[in-house]
Amino acid sequence: MATVDTTTAHSTNGRGAGAEIAVENPATGEVIAHLPDMPAARIAELAIAGRAAQPAWEALGFEGRGAVLADFRGWLMDNADRVVSTIVSETGKTYEDANLIELVYTGGALRFWVKHAERFLAEETVRVRTLVVAGKKLVTRYEPLGLVGIIGPWNYPLVNSFGDAIPALMAGNCVILKPSEITPLTSLLIADGLAECGLPAGVLQVATGRGATGGALVDEVDMIMFTGSTATGKKVMARAAETLTPVSLELGGKDPLIVLADADLERAANAAVYYSMLNGGQTCVSVERVYVEAPVYDDFLARIMDKVCTIRQGASTGPATAEVGAMTTGAQLEIVERHVADAVSKGARVLTGGHRGAGTGRFYEPTVLVDVDHTMAAMTEETFGPTLPIMRVADAEEALRLANDSPYGLAASIYTGDRERGNRLARRLQAGAVCVNDALMNYMAVELPMGGWKASGMGSRHGAGGIRKYAKQQSLMISRLHLKREPFMFPYRASTSKALFGGLRLLFGRRRKRG
Ligand code: NDP
Repeated sequence: MATVDTTTAHSTNGRGAGAEIAVENPATGEVIAHLPDMPAARIAELAIAGRAAQPAWEALGFEGRGAVLADFRGWLMDNADRVVSTIVSETGKTYEDANLIELVYTGGALRFWVKHAERFLAEETVRVRTLVVAGKKLVTRYEPLGLVGIIGPWNYPLVNSFGDAIPALMAGNCVILKPSEITPLTSLLIADGLAECGLPAGVLQVATGRGATGGALVDEVDMIMFTGSTATGKKVMARAAETLTPVSLELGGKDPLIVLADADLERAANAAVYYSMLNGGQTCVSVERVYVEAPVYDDFLARIMDKVCTIRQGASTGPATAEVGAMTTGAQLEIVERHVADAVSKGARVLTGGHRGAGTGRFYEPTVLVDVDHTMAAMTEETFGPTLPIMRVADAEEALRLANDSPYGLAASIYTGDRERGNRLARRLQAGAVCVNDALMNYMAVELPMGGWKASGMGSRHGAGGIRKYAKQQSLMISRLHLKREPFMFPYRASTSKALFGGLRLLFGRRRKRG
């Protein structure tokens, strides 16, 4: 079992007299910590502390803030074993899932934002292109919002919580992080590490608690970055509307993978298996459904079965001890069971898996479903488990139609031997992030914006927009002093009006020659 220093956790947050949450190891069923379930009054206190700390944090500038976060990157790698064991203990994921997607992503994100934050938020002189403001200086600039609230899910307690705090902090904000009640220990450990690296008190605080704690946070901050389900995202947006607090929402998905007849089937099959089962399928950008062109369907399926049948599942006790870990929550395990049962009741066949795993932990066997269609929840609702439903399609057009037949639009991928065709088809997929001959790893590209279409979200993380959303934008128009008035101001003179507006009409009315 992972060792979790809950004494530190308590000292970071202050144990209130109120209710507690119990944190469980999903791979063993053991309770590993008790933490405060913070009430609204406690969140208000954190907000006061955060607002008090913000001006000095902002005053440190990009270099000063970057120095603390760069130091923290070193801390993270020095303490990698402790961080990984904490993540594994509260999620039940494998050692490799915790290393690659959580630790490596976060190391890369720290490096990226420390290096590029200043460039993205640099003041810019904008070239004048509008006639009536000719001769003026136009400038855009950014200022931190102040206090940012980050609400994270349980599936990636480092990436989808602290990962989103990095650009917010680099932009000069203070942050209150509300991790899922199921996985709060990673955030508390990170807060301790940041304090060791000299992050001033109040700059990043962790609000432990349930959904109500998240709701209270929405009331207190200047912006909410939310990652979680579409249902909760709607609640967060509705509550934020009360105070006109801006929100950025990264929500659920039902990501399709398309395999065309000319694809490298070995590469496509490896990707379908890995990116559907990675993290037990509990990844927002998991491959949730596969469409395969009929001529290669049997070959593709044979390769899938060869690979899935060798997967080892269990509690991860170190490097390469299991490929697929536990289901982090009991509720999620029930959703997976429901989707498989629904598919089978409507005619799907389970080629492998289809049951809870043996033992005390929460496991669901890696499962391959065929003869599936869009009457089944497994093909239309987010399953978020180690399931791989595969559907035979006549051609690329049918695959595209089915891929787009979804309320979600998070990510999608397409495998083909013709990169140009893949590129063309990718643009017809209704998803915010699309890969050709790849999947999921585009999440690691911090330079590339990532955000969902349709019910998968609003706004995006990463890229320039991934830090500008944590800033207030101000535009400046600075005029020269030598003119006492503009030509169109009071008092109007007929001669000036005629000359000015006549000239402008002529200019705007000039048509381009066609053909
Ligand atoms: P939830 O929506 O259940 O919870 C997300 C967070 O919101 C948790 O911290 C939760 O607290 C909190 N919360 C719950 N109710 C409220 C409320 N009324 N007001 C404010 N906060 C609240 O999501 P899950 O934790 O179950 O995460 C899985 C979901 O996240 C999946 O749909 C997945 O696709 C999505 N996700 C999306 C990503 C993306 O980038 N698009 C990335 C990762 C996950 P508590 O847990 O304590 O109840």
